Amino acid sequence: MEETLTEKNLDLKFKYQVIKEKGGEKLFRCFSCATCTLSCPVHVVDEEFNPRRIVRLTLIGAKEEVLKSPFIWLCSACYLCSERCPQDVRITDLMTALKNIAVKEGVIPPGLEAQLELLKAHGRLYEIGDFENKKRAKQGVPTLTEMKELALKVLDVAELLNLKGEK
Ligand code: SF4
Ligand code: SF4
Repeated sequence: MEETLTEKNLDLKFKYQVIKEKGGEKLFRCFSCATCTLSCPVHVVDEEFNPRRIVRLTLIGAKEEVLKSPFIWLCSACYLCSERCPQDVRITDLMTALKNIAVKEGVIPPGLEAQLELLKAHGRLYEIGDFENKKRAKQGVPTLTEMKELALKVLDVAELLNLKGEK
């Protein structure tokens, strides 16, 4: 059951944290017209995914509800809402900002955490072994190698960029 929002579980500084995060800068422009929600293809398949609601919750300081919500991770980054928002809130970038804050605060969905571990271990989202390469060879496609070092470099750069973004 959804927790009732009270002053106690609101973080009134959350919106300021979000506007400092890359992508969240235009949060305050929202005038709640719902064009984003009505444009969203994810909302069509799951009515509970509601970008306008996420903006409102962010503005009122429902930090825990926003960051722990699976919904911020459902955005497919199609940019339809960003194209249509009359206030240029750039919801897609705002979703990215919220996801980045969630990761910085250690709130990562288990599925994504598992993917990150696979990337670190293999440089890909699945292990490449003799079995896979034999099957590829049979189909006449090139064999693959693991790219662990490259993936680790990319993850290091991403972490560095993230740290720079915090300043
Ligand atoms: S379309 Fe833009 S202004 Fe309208 S509710 Fe969505 S974010 Fe706010
Ligand atoms: S970018 Fe995300 S929130 Fe915006 S319309 Fe696409 S799926 Fe929905």
